[in-house]
Amino acid sequence: MLIRHATIVDVGSAHLIADQAVATLGDTIVAVGNDRDIAAAWRARQTTQAHGKYLIPGLWDMHVHFGGGPEVIEENQALLPLYVAFGITTVRDCAGDIPYDVLNWREDIARGTLLGPTLLSSGPKIEGIAPVWKGTLETGSEADVDAAIAKLKSLRVDFVKITDSTLKPELFLYAVRTAHAAGLKTSGHIPMQLTVEQAVDAGLNSIEHIDYAFKAGVKNEAAIAADFAAGRIDRAAAYRRLNEGFDRDTAMKAYRNFASRGVFVTPTLNGERILAWLDRDNHDHDPGLAYIGPKLRKTYDWRIERAAKASADAIRQRHEQYERAAAVLPLLQQAGVTIMAGTDAGFLNSFNYPALGLHDELALYVKQGLTPPQALASATRAGPEWFGKLDRYGGIEAGKAADLVLLDANPLADINATRQIRLVVLRGVVFDRGRLDRILADARTKVAEWNAHSNAARIGQRPSVPSAHSLASRSSASRARSSSVILLPNTRS
Ligand SMILES: [Zn+2]
Repeated sequence: MLIRHATIVDVGSAHLIADQAVATLGDTIVAVGNDRDIAAAWRARQTTQAHGKYLIPGLWDMHVHFGGGPEVIEENQALLPLYVAFGITTVRDCAGDIPYDVLNWREDIARGTLLGPTLLSSGPKIEGIAPVWKGTLETGSEADVDAAIAKLKSLRVDFVKITDSTLKPELFLYAVRTAHAAGLKTSGHIPMQLTVEQAVDAGLNSIEHIDYAFKAGVKNEAAIAADFAAGRIDRAAAYRRLNEGFDRDTAMKAYRNFASRGVFVTPTLNGERILAWLDRDNHDHDPGLAYIGPKLRKTYDWRIERAAKASADAIRQRHEQYERAAAVLPLLQQAGVTIMAGTDAGFLNSFNYPALGLHDELALYVKQGLTPPQALASATRAGPEWFGKLDRYGGIEAGKAADLVLLDANPLADINATRQIRLVVLRGVVFDRGRLDRILADARTKVAEWNAHSNAARIGQRPSVPSAHSLASRSSASRARSSSVILLPNTRS
């Protein structure tokens, strides 16, 4: 396949290279160079003329979820082609409650029998005993953690996700160290009893959600952690003190430490912003709803209902906390921390739409002070770098994967250009605009059918409260969050 007369965006150096041609064979780029030279040297079955267009490496969303229970598997699977249609050629699945289905999709996609982005998955996440989350590996001792890591190794997961719904803090650190020793990268939610620095010292490779980067910038973080660990303060009090204790010098010192240790940060601003303003924003007419099936949509209710119950004071503080936390993004960049674009899109995370959300995420980075080239690098280079796969991804060169997105406008000038997709190449297969539009139309048709079916089923039933059961099963998380003044990262997946 040949793409001719394209302007290549070098996302590493933020430069444009005009009038280039790219030749691919199978799933690999075999030649890149001046259009005339490449066109003379290669004959292709399929040629795309790309005058006035901009070619970037495929986009990576480094924080997505699939889940909502076994009855939502089909709706989750239907999201996979959607990622491709929005230029996302790789996603990092950060665990959910259907991990074994996701691991099967990973294999089917790699084999070419299922259309979707390359899936890099944590498999089931490591948790404590009887956590709020389903589908986890529950651990209550070091031996349990050892067994969990051995199991994850046998599942050939791409990294390890650790969360702290009920996980003991010392086991969190033990899990990070053990995974590290087993050659697996880790990410997760850091228990309140620990400082972010302790997790980084143990070898945590990526920090998910900007709240934790904010927390690392709190001057008396260690004292708050100690007070919480000793039971002298509750979670709400801990958050109150954290929210008031941010110090720029402390933050810059912590962030320089992240940078020197190679710890990346996935901000997930889109998710945080939507949740913070859930009380006020009307999502009834979001274009993204057309791609969300009724059962997936139902998983949104938990957070919507909770937002509706929050006091005016709690809502105001949530808004303020989003602004405070998001404001650390340029400090991270300044300290040399690699920022990985990730949305937290998937089940539960209301109105944070899979695939579409990544483009919103990038726009938020620019709004918070990153340059468009920095935002673009976070979605093209940072993911491959974190996984140690820059030899294969993150650029447009011979030998790299034929995962490409052709844009109508220059993303180095305006990051919103990533939304203007002319063509996607996924593992060497070309999806022109017509084919991408058909994927989108098929996805909308499927969702419309599911919605019609689910409405018909509801009319046939007596009125009931279908969410009551699922809410009850999450009651401990609801309790934890309703008393808090900010978004509690430990109840986010
Ligand atoms: Zn998440």
